[in-house]
Amino acid sequence: MLFPATIAGSLPKPAWLAETDKLWPQWRQSGEALAQAKLDATLLAVKLQEDAGIDIVCDGEMSRQHFVHGFLEFVDGIDFANKVEMGIRADRYKAMVPVVRGALTLKGRVHEREALHARAHTARKLKITMPGPMTVADTIADAHYGDKIKMAFAFADLLNQEARALQADGVDVIQFDEPTFNVFMDEVSGWGIEALHRAIDGLTCTTAVHICYGYGIKANIDWKNTLGVEWRQYERIFPALAKSRIKQVSLECINSHVPLKLLSLLDGKDVLIGVIDVATDDIETPERVAQVIDEVVQFVPKERIVACTNCGMAPMRRTIAEAKLTALGKGAALARERWG
Ligand code: ZN
Repeated sequence: MLFPATIAGSLPKPAWLAETDKLWPQWRQSGEALAQAKLDATLLAVKLQEDAGIDIVCDGEMSRQHFVHGFLEFVDGIDFANKVEMGIRADRYKAMVPVVRGALTLKGRVHEREALHARAHTARKLKITMPGPMTVADTIADAHYGDKIKMAFAFADLLNQEARALQADGVDVIQFDEPTFNVFMDEVSGWGIEALHRAIDGLTCTTAVHICYGYGIKANIDWKNTLGVEWRQYERIFPALAKSRIKQVSLECINSHVPLKLLSLLDGKDVLIGVIDVATDDIETPERVAQVIDEVVQFVPKERIVACTNCGMAPMRRTIAEAKLTALGKGAALARERWG
């Protein structure tokens, strides 16, 4: 099928699960009630995607407070009690981050419950996302490894352990989120892709990497304003990604300053193009979504195009996110009619 639709990963959490409109929401439940509420929200996220015509559905990231820390919670060797302030994403923001103080090991499964629950309730292809090794290493302080790259590879091993288990759970697509690939461009070909290869080692399911310019929050919007008229960060990393063993690359398109011709550098990859802007509450029309797909068809073979969101929708209002999901599904269907 041409132009299958999917999302970058996250959807807004319902108010009964967590605080709304926040990137770092507090949970509204605790203990077993929280565990059950996460699964209920997962089921809701899957249903909303199905009804909107999304072909490759996600768990909506309902079970994690934040896309990086949702993974770190399950890792031993990390001190969460004594966080330190660190500039992350090349000092774009200051964040209070936990500290690695010993050898890293997984405490157990990370996303098993939500993956199995989603798997049990949908016949569609299922995608689960995890943070990529470079992004994890940029979101935590190190007091043990003494070397960021060494630490990133230690995280890659843990990500691989969970990814293999997710594949065994019946997950069809495993995606790693690497927003830092747009920040540390030289390090991507230097070691970032090798770390990703470690994370996907032994997987036979579809693998993807999501490289965006971040959620539509103020620090990101301010940063984007410094990037100039044309954003060419992708130009420096796509040739290396094209040679990588990752099958799919997810990136921003709509309302972005990325010159679309750069997408032709991703020869051989499935390209998940952002046709939904997560930085505005304006709802795209299906026609606008189809128009972005029309433009990308000039640079990417149509069989390799997947319609997606620019980034996660976690911090948005639910009504807005649901309307955008519908626009995504309808827009992909419209483009399919045109190009089918
Ligand atoms: Zn993103």
